[in-house]
Amino acid sequence: MHCRFVQIAVDTPLDIFFDYRWLGGDDAALPAVGQLALVPLGKREVIGLIVAVSEQTDVPPERLRDVIALRAQIPPLPEPWLALCRFAAGYYQRPLGEVALPCLPKKLREQKPLALERALKKLAQTQASPSTVASEAPTLNPAQQQAVDAIANADGFTPVLLHGITGSGKTEVYLQAAAQILTQSPAAQILILVPEINLTPQLEAGIRARFPTVPVATLHSGLAETERLRHWLSAHLGQANIVLGTRLAVLASLPQLALIVVDEEHDPSYKQQEGLRYSARDLAVWRANQLGIPVVLGSATPSLESWQHAQTGRYRKIELTERAVQDAALPAIRLLDSGRNQLTDGMTAALMAALKLRLERGEQSLLFLNRRGYAPVLSCDACGWVSNCPRCTAFMVLHLSERKLRCHHCSLEMRIPRACPDCGNIDLQPLGRGTQRVEESLLSHFQQARILRIDADSTRKKGSAQAAFDAVHEGEVDILIGTQMVAKGHDFQNLTLVGVLNPDTALFSHDYRASERLFAQLMQVAGRAGRSAQKDDHQSEVLIQTRYPQHPLFAALKAHDYGVFATALLEEREQACLPPFCHQALLRAEARELPDALAFLQQAALLLAPEGVTINDPIPMALTRVANVCRAQLLVESASRPALQAFLREWMPALRTVKTRVRWTMEVDPADI
Ligand code: ADP
Ligand code: ZN
Ligand code: ZN
Repeated sequence: MHCRFVQIAVDTPLDIFFDYRWLGGDDAALPAVGQLALVPLGKREVIGLIVAVSEQTDVPPERLRDVIALRAQIPPLPEPWLALCRFAAGYYQRPLGEVALPCLPKKLREQKPLALERALKKLAQTQASPSTVASEAPTLNPAQQQAVDAIANADGFTPVLLHGITGSGKTEVYLQAAAQILTQSPAAQILILVPEINLTPQLEAGIRARFPTVPVATLHSGLAETERLRHWLSAHLGQANIVLGTRLAVLASLPQLALIVVDEEHDPSYKQQEGLRYSARDLAVWRANQLGIPVVLGSATPSLESWQHAQTGRYRKIELTERAVQDAALPAIRLLDSGRNQLTDGMTAALMAALKLRLERGEQSLLFLNRRGYAPVLSCDACGWVSNCPRCTAFMVLHLSERKLRCHHCSLEMRIPRACPDCGNIDLQPLGRGTQRVEESLLSHFQQARILRIDADSTRKKGSAQAAFDAVHEGEVDILIGTQMVAKGHDFQNLTLVGVLNPDTALFSHDYRASERLFAQLMQVAGRAGRSAQKDDHQSEVLIQTRYPQHPLFAALKAHDYGVFATALLEEREQACLPPFCHQALLRAEARELPDALAFLQQAALLLAPEGVTINDPIPMALTRVANVCRAQLLVESASRPALQAFLREWMPALRTVKTRVRWTMEVDPADI
């Protein structure tokens, strides 16, 4: 038998491939590009990805090691998938091995192929069992029909920006476009991305009801590893026709991919914030372009990047301007001046009255406050002591029900002090309010009401978030209080009041994206109200308590006019040379002492002559210290994406040669700066 040599990418920070010898084995399978193989690496045995197969190698025979086993049980990862990983590695400046391997299920990367073989067996046994209860598709309105036609009849790469107000039936467009594509080509695969893991069950149920005989796979971080392997395999083998997932699903192997949908495409959670810092939305568009297929970006408040592409004609924009359900109307938005009106427990009389009215009518209300815990700070009036985290430049948040102070940045916990640590005053005061405190006040004001809080604290247990949302859908809750977890996507039927408690900090943030995000968030949460046909003349409403009712953001919000807001914001961005009018990369450094981090960045800034890019001064990050580590950043910008990419391609190898104990990371297209 012929001896062959394979080049293998493994999951290491080294940007190189390793050569191995393959001597053949019991099985007749030959090594192929895209196949996984078990190989020795130092003293370990790891799964690597074959990126080349050849008849010769430059590595001297005495240093060459042998492939231990090929994972020939599954077909090799297809070439377009490899190309996607190569692109992501190149664009986001990471070694291929650190891109391609971590996005495979853990159980696929185990030394023994037991889990793999078991999963394959299980998949072979589960044939789709045809069911008879298909939910009937509603008749599309003309705007929806136009969108479905544009998607399903697309010829080649077709990016569609589906700009539809909340409740305009975007989901229905995705489903009917999928149905049409699957009718034309029954083997096709459709990838649907959603921003929140909590939104998958609702959509999955909708998909299964609409397509009872179509195999559906789900991919998100909440799956157990064996489940994840099985779902990933059914996508990789082409069995699953519909794959529903969160951002990580964009890197799934989908050999028959024919359509990608990115729902709520503006959502910040599409950006991965560690390891490979990719934008799932951007990779989705790249993937669609590579395969020559349609990609739908759906949102009521598109990202400015996508909006700009639609303005320049790169993306086709389709608008859904009406709510899909007959007689369902957008809620009226009212601003309540929290500076002028007296507040009781943080609430205006108008908001209290509106809540009371909903209770009398048997309708549901939602209070939105993007701050969990009881109060963001505990303080001493006598001496000015505040509950600073000893390890971060942040406050420790008061969690009264657990009787703890907790830092939301480093997770440090401590008992609530009985008296002021500085002056001994025993009358410590909570400052400001979080969801727990609002829940407490609601309970005291509305003793008959069924009140439920949904935030990261109340939903720590697996399955508890789902149970909580089910309770709301089933009408077991009168007043729901929650963070952004409750703002997105949910189709609450009986909800007619949304109260927004304190959006003001985001109005004046150092982050230039804060107002874009706030607008999207408020539009989203407002969109939870009035989703079913209006009863009598009970108009649904959104009450926003703010000290700045004159802020222009609220005027656009009241008019439900994203276009006006986006146009103004794009003008500002253009004048200030901010994205999408410039392209950015952020070098971040972490060290025990801030000067070390800054010094490293200073050195990094001088490594290369900047060509076509601007290198800004190193600065401490807004949240400078987290868990006793100091953080600083260096922003590199360019009006030209290729110029920035060319610079990064030279800069990265130079950075890797710098001898330093500072930990650093590169982020291309950073989301927060
Ligand atoms: P979006 O995703 O745009 O917020 P959804 O897709 O959740 O909106 O649709 C909102 C509601 O409208 C859902 O209850 C959905 O079943 C309903 N709906 C969608 N399209 C139609 C239609 N053409 N006719 C009647 N009801 C529809
Ligand atoms: Zn004190
Ligand atoms: Zn901390």
